Amino acid sequence: MRFGFHCSIAGGLSKSLDRAKALGCDTLQFFTRNPRGWGYTPLDPREAEVFYFRAREMDLRPLVVHMPYLPNLASNDKLLYQRSLESLKVEVERCKVLGVDYLVTHVGTSKGKSRKDGIERVAQALMEALDISGPCILLENAAGQGSELGFQVVELGKIIRIAGRDLRLGLCFDTAHAFQAGYPIHTAEGLEEFLDEVSYWVGLECLHLLHLNDSRTPLGSRVDRHWHIGEGCIGLRGFKGIMRHPVLKDLPAIMETPWSLRWDKRNMARVRSLASKEI
Ligand SMILES: [Zn+2]
Ligand SMILES: [Zn+2]
Repeated sequence: MRFGFHCSIAGGLSKSLDRAKALGCDTLQFFTRNPRGWGYTPLDPREAEVFYFRAREMDLRPLVVHMPYLPNLASNDKLLYQRSLESLKVEVERCKVLGVDYLVTHVGTSKGKSRKDGIERVAQALMEALDISGPCILLENAAGQGSELGFQVVELGKIIRIAGRDLRLGLCFDTAHAFQAGYPIHTAEGLEEFLDEVSYWVGLECLHLLHLNDSRTPLGSRVDRHWHIGEGCIGLRGFKGIMRHPVLKDLPAIMETPWSLRWDKRNMARVRSLASKEI
C-alpha cells in the first residue's frame, strides 16, 4: 500500500510535494486552487512544468486532486449546475497539465424527489468531463449529511452505470464516510458486506483509491468528522481489517486526518506498522 496525505499547496504547487516528502509519503492529494471559492487563476505553465517533473523525480504517485467544495454536480439549480460542470471540466484540464492520475469528486446534494434526477445530472456531467481525455475521475462515497447523494453504494453504482461504465470512471472509498453512512466496516463481517455491495453494484475493479480516515462520530451518524487513525470509532482493529483485506491492501491510500504535524507523523507511522503487520 502506498500512503500519503492531503497536502497544502500554500506557497506554490510544488510546495505540496516537499510537504509530502517531509512526512514520508509515497503519494499525495492536493487542491489545484483555493477549494472554498469559485474563482481561480490559470495555471502558470512554468510552475506546472516544474511540478510535473519534480513529482516524477520524487516518485510521488499516484497524484490525486480533490475537487473544490462549492461545485454541486447534482444541483437542480440550472446556474449552479452549469457552474459546477464548468469547474469539473476546468479541473480535468488542470489535472491533465499537471500529470495527475486521479480526480476525486463528491457526488453532490439533491433533495427529496429530485434524488433520481440528481443522479442523472451527475452522470451527465461525468460523461461530458470524460469526453476530455484526462485523469480517472473517482466518485467518493459520502457520509450522507443532509441531502447528500452517494452515501449508499447502490447510488454510486447507478451513476457509473448511467455514465456508461467508462474505464476512467471509478470509486474512492472513504473509510470514515462509509462508517458514518451506516456500513459497519470496522468488523470483518461488515467490511465483507460492504465490499460485496461494491462488487454487486459497482464492480471491485472500479475501486482505485482509499481515503483512510477514522471517524469521530458513531456508526450511522451521517455526520462527517474525520479523526486520527485508530483513535476514533473505527479503531485500530477496524483499520487492521481494512488495510489487510486482500481487495484493499494494494490500493493507494490518502489520509485526510485533522492537520497537525505531530499527528501526521503518528498517523503515518501507525498505518505503516499496520500494513507491515507489526501491530
Ligand atoms: Zn472528499
Ligand atoms: Zn475523503
